[in-house]
This record gives sequence, C-alpha cells and structure tokens, in this order.
Amino acid sequence: METDLETAGARAGPVVVEDPRMAGLVEPGTSVRRLGGDATWSEGPVHLPAEDAVLWSDIPGNRILRWDERTATVSVERTDVEFTNGRTLDLQGRVVACSHGRRGLERTEPDGTTHLLVDSWRGVRFNSPNDVVVRSDGTIWFTDPAYGIVQAHEGHPGEREYGDHYVFRFDPATGDVRPVVIDVEEPNGLAFSPDEALLYVSDTAAALGRWGASNHHIRVYDVRDGSLCKNGRLFAEISPGLADGFRVDVHGNVWTSSEDSVQVYGPDGVRLGRIPVPEPVGNLCFGGPDRSVLYIAATTGLYRFPTRTTGCSPLDLA
Ligand code: MG
Repeated sequence: METDLETAGARAGPVVVEDPRMAGLVEPGTSVRRLGGDATWSEGPVHLPAEDAVLWSDIPGNRILRWDERTATVSVERTDVEFTNGRTLDLQGRVVACSHGRRGLERTEPDGTTHLLVDSWRGVRFNSPNDVVVRSDGTIWFTDPAYGIVQAHEGHPGEREYGDHYVFRFDPATGDVRPVVIDVEEPNGLAFSPDEALLYVSDTAAALGRWGASNHHIRVYDVRDGSLCKNGRLFAEISPGLADGFRVDVHGNVWTSSEDSVQVYGPDGVRLGRIPVPEPVGNLCFGGPDRSVLYIAATTGLYRFPTRTTGCSPLDLA
C-alpha cells in the first residue's frame, strides 16, 4: 500500500541541474525512491557490500534499522543501542559507529559482537561522537559535537568534559587519540577528498538556534602528515538547512544533506545541483555493488537514488 510519504516521494521532483557538470553525475529526470522506515530522525547510513544491505540509525528511537536489497524489506536490526549516530566501514569491512549514549566509538566484529573502541581523551570523556570516517592508514576520524548530551531525546544529559567540540583522530593500532580540528563550533559531518589531502568538516551549530556567519557551512582543511589539519577555510554555505552528513565521490564532488534535498558541490565549492527529497535529510552514503547508488537517510526513512558516479573509499588508496 502506498503511504503518504511514498506519494510525497513521487512529488519530490526530479534532480535539479545548476551546473553542466551535474549532468555527468546523474541521469536527468531521475527522482529519489522511498524504500521505507518509521524512524523519528534518521542518520548514519552505511552499505554492507557482502549483504547488499544498509544499516542506519533512528537516533531518538534508540534503534538501528536495516534495509535489505535482496528482500526489499526494512527491519529492526537492534534496539536499546545507546543512541548510535554516524557509522562507516573500516578497512576490514567492520562497522565502526558513533554512540551518543556511550560517548564513544564502537565496532561490530564479524561474530556480531559490538564493543567500545574509545570514549576519552586525556582522561576526560568525549561529548557525543556524531559522524565517523576511516582513512586509508586505518585511523578513525570523528566529530564530537554536544547534541547527545544537550538533547535528552538523543542521548543522556551530561557535561562537556573538555569544554569544547573537536574533531578527533583515533589510531586503533596504538590507542593514540588527538584533536585534529578545533576551530569548528559544532563539528558534525566529515569526509576526506579522494586523495585524502583534504578533510571536509561541517558546522551545524545553527541546529541549536545559533544561526551565524559560519555555522551552517562546510569547511575544508589541508591534511598534513596524515594527522594535522591546517589552513581551514569556507568550502560551501548550505541553504536551506544543514550539512549534517555528506560523502565525496571519486571525482571529489561533495554530496551533502540539506533541509529539502541532497546538494552536490564540485571540488571548487560551486553547487552543481540538487536532488529533491520530501523530508529533511540527515545523512547519506554510497553503496550498491559498484558504489554508485546513493542511500539517503531522511527523517522517517531511507531513500535510494542512482548516480553516474562512484563514492570514494579508503580502500581505493589502502
Ligand atoms: Mg550528523
């Protein structure tokens, strides 16, 4: 039976081309397709290649949901998950996820067990890790805004123990934890360029009512020696809405969430076009057999959009 949102999905409209480069990335006239879901706020999708499935977070629902391409069904993967948020795959294909409730990163092993990887730096706890990426050297980079400790429906109320909001780099091989970006008010989404020479970080402080000159934006940094971010500068201003989460394709284009669509930016920061989505978008990932399918976690559910490009992966460099 078609739901209201499926009807709305049909009304979301086809892709909007704003720069000729967009036509090379998408099939003109294509629209998103709603796959399903009954979430309150969807975040953190990751595609599992071996299962051709997508896991994503319903943060306020404190659940992980699952979409199976083979059976075309949505199911509940786990409940009482301590408010997981963003997730990605490490170089071994294991799921690494951010946990608001545990104030750390966790990893799911091949046998299905999930355990905490790291939750503190210099003896104080993180705030509420939000989104995570893995570099080709195996290090894990994540943002640490305060949403999970200042909003009771997304975690457990708590203190900012180091008094700020940083992006951290964690090396699971050595246990080393270090801040790599310290000048973003509420860092949220993050992604590397295909060659890992650049790190993109969004600021979503506007989500807490603090609309300002730079807090609904994506910033970009030069990555030096694999562990130092320098020369931070504005990459793009997202409007309407926020760059809660985003991914980069193999050509260096940035595909980001916003209030009403997935927006696509060229490596030069020029907006190339938009993919309308009928609900505010939380996050997205590339997946499918050849990493060309865009999976979009948007408020209540998961959407799918075919592209003509490929999501970049640390495995391309590892
Ligand atoms: Mg986020």
